Amino acid sequence: MINLDNRITLKEKIREARHWLGFLIFIFFVGSCVKPTKVISIDGKTMGTTYNIRIVVVKKMEIDESKIKIDVDSLLIRINKQMSHYIPQSEISLFNDNTSIQPIKVSTEFYSVVLQSKKLTQLTSGAFDITVAPLVDYWGFGPSASPLESGQLPDTLKILELMEFVSSENLVARDGQLIKSNPNTRLDLSAIAKGYGVDEVFMQLGAMGFTDYMVEIGGEVRCSGNNDSGQPWRIGIDLPELNTPPGKNLQGIVQLKDRALATSGDYRNFLIINGEIHSHAIDPRTGFPVKTRVASASVVAPTCAEADALATALMVLGVEPGIDLINRLDEIDAALIIRDGDGIYRTVISNEFKWAE
Ligand code: ADP
Ligand code: MG
Repeated sequence: MINLDNRITLKEKIREARHWLGFLIFIFFVGSCVKPTKVISIDGKTMGTTYNIRIVVVKKMEIDESKIKIDVDSLLIRINKQMSHYIPQSEISLFNDNTSIQPIKVSTEFYSVVLQSKKLTQLTSGAFDITVAPLVDYWGFGPSASPLESGQLPDTLKILELMEFVSSENLVARDGQLIKSNPNTRLDLSAIAKGYGVDEVFMQLGAMGFTDYMVEIGGEVRCSGNNDSGQPWRIGIDLPELNTPPGKNLQGIVQLKDRALATSGDYRNFLIINGEIHSHAIDPRTGFPVKTRVASASVVAPTCAEADALATALMVLGVEPGIDLINRLDEIDAALIIRDGDGIYRTVISNEFKWAE
């Protein structure tokens, strides 16, 4: 018997805001008045969550913080209008509603995220797949109403039917245009767009001439250079406790030197079936929400888009296939936090992953 009560209550509570909801991270500073540097903080809202920027500059330097914020906000608004399927007229929403199998011209940014996503689908043997949208909606993790909300039980035949539309082979990318092999192909960029947004802001700040800074959107983060102590940035990873406010209990801290970090988990956005937690990561190969012992997956990578997507892929792949994949990849490391029982956690890390002291 499937108990949908918990998830319906949960759904009502967090329906609109949660899809981009991230994981609060902690940035550790050591302040000192004798330092020749100061830290500029710029905060705002985007993608249904918050963003946070820290820039280390020399104390005497005059910086127009409001101008930086205006530039960052307009960049993020543009990305959101391209990639959020929660905005009805966004580029992705129009693309999803378009049932033509003729080539569809898309923006350069949209095209590049799709290309990168397709590569990541290959790399993860289909665990990460942006064509998963119909399944995400069916299970009630997307913008449209799920049949399960009105009390229907999950229907295996319906899931098999939807899986016909879920395959990166249904989406051909050629010469800046996308072609749907199947008119029902729809995309969900939620597992990569925050990371992509971080990367874009990161490059924007680099182009402004800054060298030491940190960009974070909803818990996905990328760092350049050092913090104001002249040390690599230190970022905390939450212990994946259900219903615990972000940042309350940390599993550990990682030092990021010109690296990105993204975390996916089953503890902020989940459904309970028969008393078991199912994450909002869907396994595109089975059509079902993930149900592994992996409570959270954190990935360190050169770019935040790949860290973001790989973190979701690790939730889907599970411990051994996931860690094996990461160990085969250069410059990419991961830490999985495994739930071994009520309140009992164990960490499995890839060969090169290091917790900070
Ligand atoms: P968060 O948004 O909390 O950072 P993720 O980055 O893991 O979490 O993204 C999860 C979202 O990605 C889901 O809510 C869904 O919209 C989408 N998604 C779910 N499963 C997959 C998958 N296997 N591949 C790609 N996207 C997925
Ligand atoms: Mg992700």
